[in-house]
Amino acid sequence: MKSKRVKLVAFAVFLLILITSFGITPVREKVNSSTELLKYSIKEKVKGRAELFKYTFPHCPFVISPVTNNAPIANNNDAVLFIHDISPIYFNYLKEIDKTVRANHFEKFTYLFLITYHHGKYNLANYPKFVNYLKQMEKAGYHMEYHAYKHNGAEFCCTGKEAEYKLDASLAILKKCGFRNVNLFFPPHGIITKSAINVFLNHHIAVITKRILFVPTPKGLKAYPTDNQEYTWYIKEKQLPGKLKRAKLNYSMALKNGELFCLSVHPGAVNTTAGMKFLKEMLQFINNKKNNP
Ligand SMILES: [Zn+2]
Repeated sequence: MKSKRVKLVAFAVFLLILITSFGITPVREKVNSSTELLKYSIKEKVKGRAELFKYTFPHCPFVISPVTNNAPIANNNDAVLFIHDISPIYFNYLKEIDKTVRANHFEKFTYLFLITYHHGKYNLANYPKFVNYLKQMEKAGYHMEYHAYKHNGAEFCCTGKEAEYKLDASLAILKKCGFRNVNLFFPPHGIITKSAINVFLNHHIAVITKRILFVPTPKGLKAYPTDNQEYTWYIKEKQLPGKLKRAKLNYSMALKNGELFCLSVHPGAVNTTAGMKFLKEMLQFINNKKNNP
């Protein structure tokens, strides 16, 4: 009888170790609307890739905060453009996007998200031509912000200590390149842990995901609703009318709901004929709405 009990206890301890080491303990925090939104955005992001999601990103606890209106970035401008994955390997694609943005006078409303040490191979500081180009863009009004260190999967779905290391290493590279004005961070895949968010907020860097913008304030963390979507992932000509229709509708909805409308694009993915047409038409559409509200 005694040995049976010992076996049972040993089995329970073994199970506990197993569960904790695989990170499947459901440490869900109290759910409110913003957590719901975050979960929603992640589900949407990995549609059709659920298996990969489970495998690559184990349990990731999320921050909780009330959602309020009046997003502080872009000073009352209701629409911004986000260019993701800024890395020297996409230099030519970026030049093409830059042309369209400038032609539509959208520089001041465009945010570039930089990767500092892409694939552990492309250290930004080793690409002075590319960095100079970015600096010219910054002078023209573009905002230089932060996206990733090596950009290995959802690399900020990690502990605070790891996030601190990646951010410090990245800020050192950015400083070396002359970028000292990082105010905003978009994590790879839009996924981040609560402890990693806190690291950024302690550095006074706001964090934006697909549906929420987290901002550090003297009174604590504030969260704002956003509509942050990408319509131009290698789209073809026949998809163009549908994509434009959806984006324009979402823009009107965001205006109505007091959300910040963020148009996300990736260099390469947007550089198809249809993708560039989409970008041009959306920027023109937004400009028209801004001038004739
Ligand atoms: Zn990315």
